[in-house]
Amino acid sequence: MLIVMDSAASPEDVRRVVETVEGLGLQAHAIPGAQRTAIGITGNRGAVEPGAFENLPGVAEVIPVSASYKLVSREAKRENTLVSVGGVVVGGPEVVVVAGPCAVESEAQAMEIGHAVRKAGATLYRGGAFKPRTSPYSFQGLGEGGLKILARVRGETGLPIVTEVLDTETVELVAEYADCLQVGARNMQNFSLLKKLGKTHKPVLLKRGMSATLEELLLSAEYLLAEGNYDVILCERGVRTFSDHTRNTLDLSAVPYVQRISHLPILVDPSHGTGKRQKVIPLSRAAIAVGADGLIVEVHPHPEAALSDGPQAILPDMFADLMQQVRLLAPVVGRTA
Ligand code: PEP
Ligand code: MN
Repeated sequence: MLIVMDSAASPEDVRRVVETVEGLGLQAHAIPGAQRTAIGITGNRGAVEPGAFENLPGVAEVIPVSASYKLVSREAKRENTLVSVGGVVVGGPEVVVVAGPCAVESEAQAMEIGHAVRKAGATLYRGGAFKPRTSPYSFQGLGEGGLKILARVRGETGLPIVTEVLDTETVELVAEYADCLQVGARNMQNFSLLKKLGKTHKPVLLKRGMSATLEELLLSAEYLLAEGNYDVILCERGVRTFSDHTRNTLDLSAVPYVQRISHLPILVDPSHGTGKRQKVIPLSRAAIAVGADGLIVEVHPHPEAALSDGPQAILPDMFADLMQQVRLLAPVVGRTA
């Protein structure tokens, strides 16, 4: 259930509604919007009787929310959510581009890429210190050492850091260094991790699971919002299909679909989405054209020697070309870059 307050409702009116909800043993989530505040109710097993709220002062409307996700839905909040990642706004008119290596391999590697992507116009830096690898014998990341390197890359380039957190045990550690905590595809339904991240005050980049429906993606985001973290950025990174010409099938129709039903920003990852270097630029163009709030791409100066995801890493020169194309395309869809 969603209680929509009148645009003239006072903070006192909002507080009264919240207290009434809590008095019923339920949770109230006040979601301030530009025009009006909406109050989402969670914790109910069956339907909530609207009569308890309809006549309270300042209440404009009581809407039963049919979808299983509530707080992430546009019914709860009409305006787009803007997420600030270290001062860079995601979800606004400016298209954001997160760029960097799949994994932090050394300080020299991470720094070289940092300077190159910064020069080309990237707005955020990515790089994994804790890597989720299919094989236990593959490079697992530099761990805390990698986080320290990321902090130095931020220090030198000024780019805020997006990096993956793999498990509940390392949330505090990763949050100490990161500006945005990435939840990888393999962890999209790690509910204990989501609940813990919901209690942190760091933005979360939530990647779509490789066989997750959009409803499942949005319900995973709902875990974060329900715990109080509204700074959530979604990411389409491709799903598994029968197609074998690419690593995954990049589902670009997810973008307008998510934007219609949710207020959360959504990025597109053409690197994992295709797994092929030569496909990254064309699919990036398509992602901007379809209305994505930004891109997350993997860049490596020596992909043949990369410790993870070399075949999909674009070279720094290609990244500069990609940024040039993004700058040309963004205004076509009413955005800036
Ligand atoms: C990554 O970003 O390097 C990564 C592991 O992505 P995903 O979780 O989408 O596979
Ligand atoms: Mn990767």
